[in-house]
Amino acid sequence: MSHLLDYKGRLQAFCTAENAVCPKCLQSTNMHIFENYDSAVILAFPVGKFSPRYFALCPLCAGSVMLTKEEAEKIKGGDKDIFGNLESMKKEESDV
Ligand SMILES: [Zn+2]
Repeated sequence: MSHLLDYKGRLQAFCTAENAVCPKCLQSTNMHIFENYDSAVILAFPVGKFSPRYFALCPLCAGSVMLTKEEAEKIKGGDKDIFGNLESMKKEESDV
């Protein structure tokens, strides 16, 4: 949990998606959405071709997923199905 707290120190909490399904471990949990305000923290993530500003962190597996601004806004608006259809997860699959 310690590194999760470390992230929280540099990321601004955006919202919490209660009872969302983590795309990494597929467990139902409260996903924490953060907005990045420190570009250095991006180095801790496997950043692809774009520079995401939003991340979802799973408290169960400590996994992180990148979110587009649109996805983050939808999650904040209550659309939790978006976790099963994230752009960053699609990119990972297409690279295989
Ligand atoms: Zn997880």
